[in-house]
Amino acid sequence: MHELSLAQNILSIVRSELKKLGIAEKRLTGVKMTIGKLMQVVPASLLYGLEIIGEEQGFKNVKYTVNECPLKVTCSGCGAESEIEKFALLCEKCGSDRIRIVGGREFVVESIDIDD
Ligand SMILES: [Zn+2]
Repeated sequence: MHELSLAQNILSIVRSELKKLGIAEKRLTGVKMTIGKLMQVVPASLLYGLEIIGEEQGFKNVKYTVNECPLKVTCSGCGAESEIEKFALLCEKCGSDRIRIVGGREFVVESIDIDD
């Protein structure tokens, strides 16, 4: 499942960050992520995966937060930037199809929280 392998990825990013910072893994209390719509992730499934796999890997009582980024394009016709709601890839302002995708592929671990 897509979300499970993403969850694995996220946890290994977090783990290597903690290692880099010299922080014990048990001190992790939260992970915030930004994920673009084009990644086609179901946030609830991802959160579920993170909880299950996280527990297995020894992360207890960690709060995971997913911030979903909209699909964003810029138009080479009029220069407008728009967010695409439906899957019609057209500029929202002038209707041109000469657009470039500028947002929606994000997959970022924004921050991690540590107790003190
Ligand atoms: Zn346009």
